[in-house]
Amino acid sequence: MGELGAAIIDAARRRRPKLVEMLAEITAIDAPSGDREALAAPAALLSSWLEELGARTRTRSTPAGPLIDATYREGDDAPVLVLCHLDTVWPLGTAAERPFRVEGEVARGPGVLDMRGGIVACLGALATLGELDLRPRPVRLLITPDEETGSEASREEIVAAARAAALVLVPEPALADGSLKTARKGWLLLRLRAHGVAAHAGLEPERGASAVDELVAALTTLQGLRDEEGDTTVNVGLLDSANPANVVAELATATIDLRFTEAAGERAARGALAALAARDPRARLEVTELHSRPPLMRTEASAAAAARVRRLARDLGIAAIGEGAAGGVSDANLAALAGVPILDGIGPVGGGAHARDEWVELGSLVERSALIALLLADDQDETEAR
Ligand SMILES: [Zn+2]
Repeated sequence: MGELGAAIIDAARRRRPKLVEMLAEITAIDAPSGDREALAAPAALLSSWLEELGARTRTRSTPAGPLIDATYREGDDAPVLVLCHLDTVWPLGTAAERPFRVEGEVARGPGVLDMRGGIVACLGALATLGELDLRPRPVRLLITPDEETGSEASREEIVAAARAAALVLVPEPALADGSLKTARKGWLLLRLRAHGVAAHAGLEPERGASAVDELVAALTTLQGLRDEEGDTTVNVGLLDSANPANVVAELATATIDLRFTEAAGERAARGALAALAARDPRARLEVTELHSRPPLMRTEASAAAAARVRRLARDLGIAAIGEGAAGGVSDANLAALAGVPILDGIGPVGGGAHARDEWVELGSLVERSALIALLLADDQDETEAR
């Protein structure tokens, strides 16, 4: 265990009751994505905590709600960007219905893992740095209002902030064994609509051009993007024609979820979408992109950052921290557009994200808080590996 590591883990352990109290306080406030009115209260609480820690905060109003932009210790060096989201997947009333509670070594409540625990770990890290009088490189925190619904209102700000950063930390939950997430699949959510020509299915079907037939053919083509390794997946969700069977369909719609581990998979998917065409000249296909995020690929620089975390975990005397891949997306996928090293899943360990039994391990909350503090205090970075 290193000397600095020992001081930091001790301070974080002493801070545990305070961390739990903060987690209780923030979890008591509902934060449904995109609800501008409801998000004002948790945003105000986080801003006040940040200001108490000595950060300079600015809250910008976006169509999805408040976006907090905070700077801790200004300076000329490129900052470490901490990407947090304020929102949870839970509707108004959930905090009252399923209040925060501690059961032994775990805490439960809406958003307690995703990502209230992660935010509290980061704020605890800044408090520890202050307490020990450690001066890290500048830290910038973006706390966004709409991660759970696709980050449309925050996307540009996230990418721009990542471009200016030396390292991006995303305190989303860790993998179940505590590993960081250095790779995530990219995502394309689409609506595919076929426009045909209606006709009587019995009397004169030749006058019609079936939108359903066109849609089925197009979906079959897209299913061809799947590969055995599961690097690219294609899932068809809602299928809708609302058409009586005795009418050749005029309109048919499907929603499609495409995921890919590599940028090449995204290029192939986009190529296939651009090449889609109706077989019948009287019909046409219309593709609408509802959401997209590029894949988070494990780069040399993020692998170097993950290696640094392994070393810092040893310095803290805590269990080893590995790295792995996750299927879901996060704002790390957007930050990936900037090409800087990214450590996602640096938040605490727990389970049941987006589920009613969501929980966070309190020991992990403390350890992650110490890890983030040491990572910020450690003056190495991965810039040379870029
Ligand atoms: Zn999250």
